[in-house]
Amino acid sequence: MGWFYNFLFIWIFIGICTFLYLMFSKTIAPYGRHSNSEWGITIDNKWGWFLMELPALVVMPVIVLISPAEKNEIIILVLSLWVLHYFYRTILFPIKLKTKGKKMPVVIVISACIFNLFNGFFVGYEIGNITQLDFGINTLIGLIIFFTGMYINRSSDNKLISLRRENKEYQIPQGGMFKYVSCPNYFGEIIEWIGFAIIVFNLGTLSFALWTAFNLIPRGLNHHNWYINYFKEYPEKRKAVIPYIF
Ligand code: NDP
Repeated sequence: MGWFYNFLFIWIFIGICTFLYLMFSKTIAPYGRHSNSEWGITIDNKWGWFLMELPALVVMPVIVLISPAEKNEIIILVLSLWVLHYFYRTILFPIKLKTKGKKMPVVIVISACIFNLFNGFFVGYEIGNITQLDFGINTLIGLIIFFTGMYINRSSDNKLISLRRENKEYQIPQGGMFKYVSCPNYFGEIIEWIGFAIIVFNLGTLSFALWTAFNLIPRGLNHHNWYINYFKEYPEKRKAVIPYIF
């Protein structure tokens, strides 16, 4: 399986380069509050979310299901967690969004599709063909971390969506983990995939947890700076993504 790990190391290296680029260049992914018209053709926001997350929902489970791995309880558990997350993100999240008429650039949709195809392949192939999964103390610890992350992510997303329902303008979110950070939904998502990596305990899922942080930390810092510039009364003690740290 040398070829697989060679590609996976290249994938992680690309993730590190992407992170450094996003941190040190002035590039901000142009969707949501950072949308602008300079990134070419746009598509309806809700369809954009559906199309960019669909490869993740499909690719990883299909690769595992057609793989030689025995479809035992731990494999079913891991697949269920994945589908639980991606069914929500692909189908329910876009339906819940209150951003009527909002657009996102097709280039964002295509790059997210490509990310989800590669990520789904790496995670699915390693689980289906290489990793020997078993229940252990890591399963329990990982599950607690995964569901804690999922709770933080979804409750924070729900709060933001309900703010948008009440008012067309951006507001300062209050309560819950917003007391500590500007983007608790991103913090929750990072925690969630760390939990998943602890359950599965292989390089593919670790690379996904790293990629999630590589994507969401720079975006969370952009959001945080945007809040500070937009609202004069923005709470000073609030950090960007990781409570008490940054
Ligand atoms: P945002 O926090 O930017 O936006 C979420 C929704 O809430 C949008 O509809 C947004 O509207 C609205 N919103 C945000 N802030 C406010 C506010 N202050 N007042 C009113 N409405 C607000 O999240 P993203 O769109 O970037 O991401 C959505 C989800 O996808 C998150 O849970 C994130 O963790 C996940 N994600 C995961 C990635 C990964 O690599 N695993 C990558 C990207 C996202 P608007 O669109 O108009 O700004």
